[in-house]
Amino acid sequence: MTTPTPAHTPYHHERFHAILAVANASTLARRLQNSLIRNQALKKSDASPVTIADFAVQALIVSRLHRDFPDDYFIAEETTGALREDDQLLEAVAQALDMPVADVLHAIDLCGHPGGDGARTWILDPIDGTRGFIAMRQYCIALGFIEGGAARVGVLGCPNLDDGEGQAGCLFHAEEGKGTWQMSEKQVDSLVLGAELKGKQCVVATVTDPREAVFSESVESAHSSHELSARVAEFLQVRAAPVRMDSQAKYGCMARGDVSIFLRFPRGGYVENVWDSAPATIVVEEAGGKVTDGRGRPLNFGLGRKMDNDDGIVATNGLMHDKVIEAVQKAMAEEAHV
Ligand code: AMP
Ligand code: MG
Repeated sequence: MTTPTPAHTPYHHERFHAILAVANASTLARRLQNSLIRNQALKKSDASPVTIADFAVQALIVSRLHRDFPDDYFIAEETTGALREDDQLLEAVAQALDMPVADVLHAIDLCGHPGGDGARTWILDPIDGTRGFIAMRQYCIALGFIEGGAARVGVLGCPNLDDGEGQAGCLFHAEEGKGTWQMSEKQVDSLVLGAELKGKQCVVATVTDPREAVFSESVESAHSSHELSARVAEFLQVRAAPVRMDSQAKYGCMARGDVSIFLRFPRGGYVENVWDSAPATIVVEEAGGKVTDGRGRPLNFGLGRKMDNDDGIVATNGLMHDKVIEAVQKAMAEEAHV
């Protein structure tokens, strides 16, 4: 008689398959980034660059997870619209994956779930930080799993981020109540279903004085107002220059203590997508940090594909959170009066 595989934690199976899928996709993304020719980038309707990698990573991860969890739903950034209008692009994606075009389209078409229903749902940003990807900077494969509207698992694959041992290729994984861990992509090969899923435990920085904090923000000032965050940093008397980095890799850096304040202030009424924060939030919170909107309210991933946060997003090591929120509100009130 075979002994049933012990699941060490409530979401062990989801976390195990998520780690494997993201690691696999990280290898694919690295290969595609290395062969990226600038003119392979095209413009989406919102003018952000999309590459073959966005579609290929989404199709790869979703087809794997759909096989492992056939009843689950998917919310992911890309749709098949651009692929159906461009045979060459579709062919390039299928070729990168060695997957029939019909399977590529099927996997991506699974990702239109509206959400907001509490169901078991995977949330994916296949290449978060596409601009970083194109410019050979940081980017992130961000995968989350929600059930009952709350994030249960988060995995961030950061192919260009130092794994802490001098090698590029770092992966963060977190499960509700079970901590956040980082591992090199190579370590993923030794994971076994049913055995503990660990690596090196991530713990946020212990700094309590904002003057000693390291704060981070987006590279792109179009995604987050650098002026407003500079004003917040001024109020807090933060001494160090901001660390600017693309993608949710920033939250991985916060989980492991490299940075201790993260500020995001989109401009012009931009409404955040759930895939830009759900995977990363659990990674920070399970490492002891806190992620809220600019008013200090928890982020809500149970509303659907979009979020309803007010005044941006603030992440900290938790210890400085109230002080940072206070400074954010002060800077915003000041901005409203100029
Ligand atoms: P980052 O790398 O931190 O700049 O964030 C990248 C993410 O910003 C992308 O994946 C988009 O989902 C999101 N984004 C795109 N356009 C905007 C915008 N106008 N304002 C704020 N965020 C945006
Ligand atoms: Mg994104």
